[in-house]
Amino acid sequence: MRKESTATLECSECGNDSMTVRKVRGARVFECQFCGALEGDVAAVREVHQERDAARRGMDPLVYPLVEALERMPHLRVREASAGASEECIPPYVQFHVEERNGALRHIERLLQSLEMSHRRTRRIWALEAHYTHSELRFALRPRFMKPVGDLDPDEIRDAQLDLRLLAERLERDMGLSWWA
Ligand SMILES: [Zn+2]
Repeated sequence: MRKESTATLECSECGNDSMTVRKVRGARVFECQFCGALEGDVAAVREVHQERDAARRGMDPLVYPLVEALERMPHLRVREASAGASEECIPPYVQFHVEERNGALRHIERLLQSLEMSHRRTRRIWALEAHYTHSELRFALRPRFMKPVGDLDPDEIRDAQLDLRLLAERLERDMGLSWWA
């Protein structure tokens, strides 16, 4: 996402007339240089909001849509998330905690159902691991590789990184479907 130019448009939030135009996936987003308000294409505006939220939480924007989708599940809080690094052959992951409340586990079951269906489209198979760490039960969503981590190559990591957005989109879609409830 790069800065294109400064247009003379008026911000609907504060009336300031210095709006920067950015292209996000081919769509234009106007950002007020005074109050930070965003205007323009709805999906692109949402992406810039996600980018800001990711920065605030110290997370990579590449993994953040999946973090946000997971946190739509009740009582779920993401503790750590990484988009990985292809050149260093570090795979992405999301680690989260689910508060022990009535029905919380049912959502884990639904998440696994969603993953099963997503596997028709993802480049990697994704697995949910359970860990006891930091004095609590945590789940880690990770791509599965049938070889030692040390033998991975950058393309395999990039495949897993491309899955992150797809998994987020599928999860959001599935959460809105009748079988999830
Ligand atoms: Zn403004």
